[in-house]
Amino acid sequence: GKSNCGYYPARLGQPLDAGRYIIVRKLGWGQYSSVWLARDRGEDRFVALKILTCEATQALSPGESQRSDEERMLTKIASADPSHPGLRHTLAYYESFQFIGPHGLHRCLVTEVLGYGVDYIRKQREDGDRRVGPVTVKRVVKQVLQALHYLHDVCGIVHSDLKHDNILFRPLDLERVVSHELTEVPSATYDCGTEATPTVIPVTSQGLPLSLDSTVKQRDLVAVLADFGHSHWQDRHFQDIIQPDALRAPEVILGHPWGPPADIWNLGCLVTELLIGSWLFEPNSETLWTYEEDHLARMTEALEARFEISMLDKCTHRDKFFKPDGSFAHFTQHEEPTWTLKKLLESFGELDGDDEIRAAELFIRRCLQLEPEKRAKAAELIDDPWLAS
Ligand code: ADP
Ligand code: MG
Repeated sequence: GKSNCGYYPARLGQPLDAGRYIIVRKLGWGQYSSVWLARDRGEDRFVALKILTCEATQALSPGESQRSDEERMLTKIASADPSHPGLRHTLAYYESFQFIGPHGLHRCLVTEVLGYGVDYIRKQREDGDRRVGPVTVKRVVKQVLQALHYLHDVCGIVHSDLKHDNILFRPLDLERVVSHELTEVPSATYDCGTEATPTVIPVTSQGLPLSLDSTVKQRDLVAVLADFGHSHWQDRHFQDIIQPDALRAPEVILGHPWGPPADIWNLGCLVTELLIGSWLFEPNSETLWTYEEDHLARMTEALEARFEISMLDKCTHRDKFFKPDGSFAHFTQHEEPTWTLKKLLESFGELDGDDEIRAAELFIRRCLQLEPEKRAKAAELIDDPWLAS
């Protein structure tokens, strides 16, 4: 079928790059690639091979180096400052190569292998509760902030696609876990781009799923920010609209200049979502107003704030959403705000007492300032009192 077109049909046990890599199993797939666990016989380690589809490979500008921007960014990250604490919390990149398959040319990125993602932890509770305990949330957020501090202040990158399935945990004792599993690997051939049970590599040395908040305290849990396939250089944007819809920052919707603060907004949404177990913003379109206007209105409601004229003056889409006086053009504001951030945290968070709720709210508010200039930077948020508690 057309949708599968251009994925590389890898076989288990298959050698790639002149026998350097042996395919072990599938790790996952996305719009532009399938990702495989492989043995690196050169370095005697396991690696992840992100094999781009033929279409994605073709889209790369040809020339003496047919490198993708994702590769350029991973290279920058790997080399910009080897002593930066954020380096440990970004995906480690080794090299890339290309080869010809039955459908055409494939670019292939070689990176470290990661394990469970935050998304997996969220889905651990049997009762369907999607909340994650505050101890885990704070540990993960601190590490993601280190990664963002590095990306923003050293590498000149905006991640632009921060979401739960792009925050993964580095497996402990990968060699032992995978070698053990290898005795049971089925000898099937995976089809191009099929769902085919993505492997979830356990994070703990015992090979147990990591779910309970109480276990996190004792473990060396390393969160890693991955997937730079949608990222942008701070000084070179590839498109105007970034981020998953519900996590999109107001300046992006409004056509205001954007940059690193957009990632911080995104993080504020994710933190809230982890604590309350549902989306912070779930905009809807109505007869009278659009999805985007609803989204903007919900922001003002949650934060009990309004967009300042000084900000709107810098927005190309201002008139799509606002009257000259700065009130919404179509949206009818409720008299009483229904869902404020505070109320959401009080009603749905598993936070321990008023002080903890207040501290979490203050942290999130530093991330969710409507004006990007007023948002705290990653480096500042690392020292927030809530994360230290
Ligand atoms: P795309 O840009 O095509 O969406 P991703 O980089 O998001 O590709 O990778 C697709 C999926 O493969 C991810 O959602 C994840 O499940 C898995 N994956 C990607 N990289 C790794 C890795 N280094 N280790 C383990 N799994 C990975
Ligand atoms: Mg992806």
